[in-house]
Amino acid sequence: MLKKGTKSWTVRSLMKFAIEFLQEKGIEEARRNAELLMAHTLKCPRIDLYTDPTKPISAKEFGHYKQLLERRINREPLQYIIGTANFMGLLLRVDGRVLIPRPETESLVEQTMLLCGTMDERKTVSILDIGTGSGNIAIALAKYVKRCEATAIDISEDALEIARFNALLHEVADRIDFRKLSVFEPVDQLLLRRFTILVSNPPYVSMKEWEDLQMEIRRYEPKEAVSDGKDGYEFHRRIVDIAPYLLQDEGWLAMEMGFGQVEEIVRLLRSHEYRNVNVTEDLGSIPRVVTAQCSPRFRNEHNKN
Ligand code: GLN
Repeated sequence: MLKKGTKSWTVRSLMKFAIEFLQEKGIEEARRNAELLMAHTLKCPRIDLYTDPTKPISAKEFGHYKQLLERRINREPLQYIIGTANFMGLLLRVDGRVLIPRPETESLVEQTMLLCGTMDERKTVSILDIGTGSGNIAIALAKYVKRCEATAIDISEDALEIARFNALLHEVADRIDFRKLSVFEPVDQLLLRRFTILVSNPPYVSMKEWEDLQMEIRRYEPKEAVSDGKDGYEFHRRIVDIAPYLLQDEGWLAMEMGFGQVEEIVRLLRSHEYRNVNVTEDLGSIPRVVTAQCSPRFRNEHNKN
């Protein structure tokens, strides 16, 4: 592809080349990709690419940039290449061991923050984040809701390592208890305390839909963070079932869901006597987040394992 040859590159000429190259290879948002990879290579803010466009590129920088472009045309997500993702204004460390936080999930955090806002200001809000991944949800909540204390669980020790790192980075590690636990463990194991809110962005892509996902996701993101390998509802069903045991009376559940899942999930919540079921759409007008208040009366013995 890109050869150093005798040509001496500047920021501007190399960027121009990279944008065309990425476009040719079918990468969306080629300019943004070229800029962020260049800023990463030069270890400078993106704006510097435009304030100092004639800056010469060294052979070492050229080699590094070339490698990054190659990774990108192999469809590795930009965030994994640069090692960070932005979530709710927070820069988080990410790599192939965790799902890249998505903008839709910001709606889930916003709705959870709204719930926190309706609660008694003097009391701690205790949150259980199920499938924390990079820690994005628990960390954003701890950061923006000062009286919040979170427990964040994940089945992946690798993910927890990244999440712990991110919590330290954002100085909320003292308010988040990270634990290696599956939501399919018996309820007694999950009942670390009675929580005020359960929040989750579970793997909700069905096995069938998985096939149609972008290459970036299928090749690089952890499959178990994206899909339940079944019909897409395995985690929602489990969470709806066990939440009444884990929540304080009148506690809330907040979950993200996929395209086309809203009807089934609202039906599920109603059949378990949840009240105040509220659905919020994402920026693309897709029903994305559901919040509901759990009825303490619904504690069905057969769910207790
Ligand atoms: N909680 C993380 C997120 O929302 C990870 C979710 C997951 O792995 N399914 O991005």
